[in-house]
Amino acid sequence: MTTPAEASFDAARDRMERRLAERAAGDGHPAPAVAVLGGTDLLRPEPADAARRRARATVHLTAQTVLIGPWGGDPDGACGTCLAMRWQRLRSRTEREALETGRTSTLAGPGLPPLPDHAVDAVWALHLLTVDAAPTALPQVSRLDLETLRVQTFPLLAEPLCPSCADRDGEDRDGAVGGGAVRDGVPGAEQPVLPLVSRPKPAPDRRRLRAADGYDLPEAALANPVCGVLGAGTWTDVVSPTTAPVAGSVFMRGYAGLTDVTWSGQANSFRASRSLAFLEGLERYAGTHRRSNVPLLTDSYRNLGAAALDPRECGLYSERTYRDDPMLGPFDPDRPIPWVQGWSLRDQKPVLVPARLCYYSAGAAADNFVFECSNGCAIGSCLEEAILYGLLELIERDAFLIGWYGNARLPEIDLTASTGPALRAMLDRAALLGYDVHAFDNRIDLAVPVVTALAVRRDGGPGTLAFAASAGFDPEDTVESAVSEILTYIPHLPGQVHERPAELVAMASDFDLVRRLPDHAALFGLPQMAHHARSYLEPTAPARPAAELYADWAETCPRGTDLLDDLLFCRDRFTDAGYDVIVVDQTSPEQRRLGLHTVSTLVPGLLPIDFGWTRQRALQLPRLRTALRRGGLRATDLAEDELRLVPHPFP
Ligand SMILES: [Zn+2]
Repeated sequence: MTTPAEASFDAARDRMERRLAERAAGDGHPAPAVAVLGGTDLLRPEPADAARRRARATVHLTAQTVLIGPWGGDPDGACGTCLAMRWQRLRSRTEREALETGRTSTLAGPGLPPLPDHAVDAVWALHLLTVDAAPTALPQVSRLDLETLRVQTFPLLAEPLCPSCADRDGEDRDGAVGGGAVRDGVPGAEQPVLPLVSRPKPAPDRRRLRAADGYDLPEAALANPVCGVLGAGTWTDVVSPTTAPVAGSVFMRGYAGLTDVTWSGQANSFRASRSLAFLEGLERYAGTHRRSNVPLLTDSYRNLGAAALDPRECGLYSERTYRDDPMLGPFDPDRPIPWVQGWSLRDQKPVLVPARLCYYSAGAAADNFVFECSNGCAIGSCLEEAILYGLLELIERDAFLIGWYGNARLPEIDLTASTGPALRAMLDRAALLGYDVHAFDNRIDLAVPVVTALAVRRDGGPGTLAFAASAGFDPEDTVESAVSEILTYIPHLPGQVHERPAELVAMASDFDLVRRLPDHAALFGLPQMAHHARSYLEPTAPARPAAELYADWAETCPRGTDLLDDLLFCRDRFTDAGYDVIVVDQTSPEQRRLGLHTVSTLVPGLLPIDFGWTRQRALQLPRLRTALRRGGLRATDLAEDELRLVPHPFP
């Protein structure tokens, strides 16, 4: 049934088509097809007729602008529906909520008014220009502002979820374990192999094969206000006293409705930050939602048996949480849930992984047994690099949580012994803002260096503590990376407390009120929380230089010239400890074309970071009690009363 609003949009479309056809007849050109944006939810498939019409449209009417394109580029590069989907994702929260969650739209006023003749003339002139334009590398979209007649042109990347282009863009062309595709919905119908190969390193101590600024990223297509893949633009914070931040953001629909997903780079130069920001944005783009229309296998764990990962191995919440949290339900092995294809690096065979554990903003009602975040997701120039960095992130988070909940006494690293100018400069900048920075050797039992950094406000005022962690092969680099992350938080710490003091004070006495990601770090801005961090603030031994603390590592650290060896070294640390290592390739089609790969890595049994005090899988997993003993840091397993049952401060 057509609603009055839809009828009005259809009328506007037909009117525009007619008026363009009149001009086309006069000029002896074919007339363009017209579509209207903003009337219906374009992220959902339209009826076949409307879909065909939209896919070939090159004039798109919106309330404030007319978009002309896609034009130029590869004729199969992107279609009108690709544009419509990317456009809708960049609309305001109100517009998106109305389009995507409203049942019917009600017309306020007379609908889209007819455009004045001069505007139609401008659209026609622009259309003619684009028809005759010289070829461009990427498809383009020109935006005509109806208020000012200003014209701006932006590149458009094809949308992998576009139903009209779906047949054209071959999923998994390279035969990798790809993006969760389970071919024909039958697990094992084709046994895909994760093709890991040797990757020569630029130098034995360099594990990023390409520098962050070494990719030819189509930045204008990734961030622009019409059809940006990652957002409407980027901003630089030129008054930041500690780093040179560049960031962008986009609304993504997740478990709890639309959330503002920010991606950023916070290096010591804006240029470096910009490249890092785009890479982080692309990593999140691939990790939050699956960018493929290939249907997922849906089946129960019990039916799949040995072919699948038992999600319980990755940790669940407490019974109380499943009982009291309306957004969660307990895992039921008999209930069909969606699965993606993964690959076990330990067993060298495919394994099905619950989609819920890999794509951290997407879920079905049936698989609401966990809220995953970006644990183990990483991007790189090849699968091997992405996997290595995903595993390093898992090591970092696991070690941090064991250090925190396990109340470990971590050896302090003497930062004054470091001569690196970058680190010195960062410590000085922190000092200027009134913070002392400490760093700790946070290795537990997995050999690879993990460093936890802690900023302490000298005068004990609000914004008291901030934590960050990092894992890597080079201890000095790892210290630098953890401290660098700390610097990104310092300028905002006092403000985070001043924004909502009463709320944070309430959390300090009732941890159940710690619910969201930002609550964890903000809580430790309260001076009265500092006593919970005593194991970090009152070291029992003097700080020692990193070179001395990590002397044993210097002897075992792999220093070959093949990145694959470093990856296998990490894998073996996990398998020696009794864990499997699973990889899911999340690479989106856009990324593949840019020479980028994104993976989700899983090591079932490791402690994952969770946010919300009642949603801490770490507290339920056996490893929390045993890892310190395994690492030789204590003689016995931890007893329950030895745990630090305080929300972690991981940012
Ligand atoms: Zn398309």
